[in-house]
Amino acid sequence: MNNFNKSVIVLHAHPDDTEAFSAGMLKLLADRGYRITIVTLTAGGLGGMSGNREKTIAIRKEEARNAAAVLNADYYCLNQKDGYAYDNAEMRIAFTNLIRKVKAGIVISHLPVDYHPDHRVASHIAEASALVASLPNVPCEEAHLEITPLFYHSATIDLSDPMGEKLTEPHFYLDITSVIETKVEMLSYHLSQIDLMKHMHKMDNFFELMKAYNEKLGKTIGVKYAEVYWQHLGGGFQKEALIQNELKEFIHKNRI
Ligand SMILES: [Zn+2]
Repeated sequence: MNNFNKSVIVLHAHPDDTEAFSAGMLKLLADRGYRITIVTLTAGGLGGMSGNREKTIAIRKEEARNAAAVLNADYYCLNQKDGYAYDNAEMRIAFTNLIRKVKAGIVISHLPVDYHPDHRVASHIAEASALVASLPNVPCEEAHLEITPLFYHSATIDLSDPMGEKLTEPHFYLDITSVIETKVEMLSYHLSQIDLMKHMHKMDNFFELMKAYNEKLGKTIGVKYAEVYWQHLGGGFQKEALIQNELKEFIHKNRI
């Protein structure tokens, strides 16, 4: 059995993605002694109604920092442009550097078949960065890890791929009923998103919608609130079911 550090690093595209898709799991892991690091690829500069991208970026970084603080988590931004995110060597090296800095045992990102182009880019960067985290020849400041971290994927609010096809069944459902208030608290720091969602998606209450999404997933497994995950089991990654074992009592419909 390999030994993975109790350190989780998450790369999502925008501020509030981590809170929306993974806060429940992160809270459960933090309560079990895991160090959490939240990274966003962009600062979500398009996600504001002020008409000023710089102002929006400053607001959203502050919101993300405050939300991360709920889990005593550090927050980093890779400062790519919201809506125009690219996968490139600079981004991969920057994220590998962070993986090494926090000595991550677990990396979490979006699904490679997520509906949002920025999410797909973040997922590719996370995968490529994690894959080489243990290789000494990668041009990083931080020393290489002893072992490639485990890699997991979170789901979006819409469980379908970019073509609208239903995604494969998640590898497991996670009962987050006991930590839903923490998730709501973290989301509540993203006040800028309420006006935006009203304008963009005609959603009256963004936070309630996120909760309703977790409620819908919960119904599938007979609990109040749930999140869903896949583990990256392709070549190059270790396959230990670490999170599934660590959070055993919260896992349902585990199919790996
Ligand atoms: Zn997003």
